[in-house]
Amino acid sequence: MAVAGGGAALCVSGAALGAALSTLFLGREDRRQELGTKDVLELLVRSHFSVDDSEVPCPSGGWVASRAAARSRAEVRRVEAENAASVEASAMVSMAGGWQGFSMEDSRKRNMEMQENFKELSPAEVLVKLQRGNARFWTGCASRPEASAFERRAMIMQQFPSTAILGCSDSRVPVEVVFDQGLGDMFVVRVAGNSLDTSTTASLQYAVKHLSVKVLMVMGHEGCGAIKAAGLPIAQIEQEPQELANALKMLKRGLDEQRLKNVHDARAYDREAVITNVRRQVEGLCRDAAIMKKVQNEELIVVGCFYEISSGIVDFLPIYSPTGISSELHEKVFDEKFTVLVSGEK
Ligand SMILES: [Zn+2]
Repeated sequence: MAVAGGGAALCVSGAALGAALSTLFLGREDRRQELGTKDVLELLVRSHFSVDDSEVPCPSGGWVASRAAARSRAEVRRVEAENAASVEASAMVSMAGGWQGFSMEDSRKRNMEMQENFKELSPAEVLVKLQRGNARFWTGCASRPEASAFERRAMIMQQFPSTAILGCSDSRVPVEVVFDQGLGDMFVVRVAGNSLDTSTTASLQYAVKHLSVKVLMVMGHEGCGAIKAAGLPIAQIEQEPQELANALKMLKRGLDEQRLKNVHDARAYDREAVITNVRRQVEGLCRDAAIMKKVQNEELIVVGCFYEISSGIVDFLPIYSPTGISSELHEKVFDEKFTVLVSGEK
């Protein structure tokens, strides 16, 4: 565990490392993702058409299958290998939850399963899932989950994102990629400088009240241009278009520049400025009585985090609790789960 400048900017690099280890040790649950959905589709299509007389273009290009072509010994072996792969693909599909049907009734049942799975998750478990997803990402083991056609159809009825996140618009910080999450997992609001205004606040309030997300997160990132620009002199900011200048001035008000003047290392300054802004936004969310009521009832965790572009690691800041930023609660959630993950009990 590392403590960054500024005292309260407690980071969990140790926990991030633990999550990475657990990802490597416990990777078997993601085995089905070694064979992507596209591969599975291709194998199934190839298997289906390998007994057909007509030539069939391969989805990935160049492949044809015909009874005539299969007459040679080499082709027979090829077809047999494909059929074996098809069996494996079918098994993988089964592991993935199956494509038992595409009727509306099947979709409705799957949607209800999704809802039940969502209800069973605690806020702390959601946070650990995010941490593990990020560990998969930065260790190069990202599963890039893609839902099957059946899963997508089941999502038409309702969504059950477990996390709402306020992130930056920066092209280098696509949150679903960074946390290795899939369709329907995250309710995402992205705006330059990840700051609250009427529309971003309203979107997050919707996610909390109507979608009952379990984690509400604000994520800043290394090298944020919006935060850098907010640190410029007012005269320079006012040369920007009016709306942009107003947004930068709003960010500037939360930066605590007097304190930042004491940080002389450029990289540390960048990190501290971004984290200061994240903290301001988290405080803003926690002034919302409805949000805090959910936090008090342990239905919601509100947390800030910092994404380091260079390493890919997300450091979580201390979790916000009804009595203020709580290192104790933070340790409880992360260190207990860290132990569980490394010991392989979950
Ligand atoms: Zn940014």
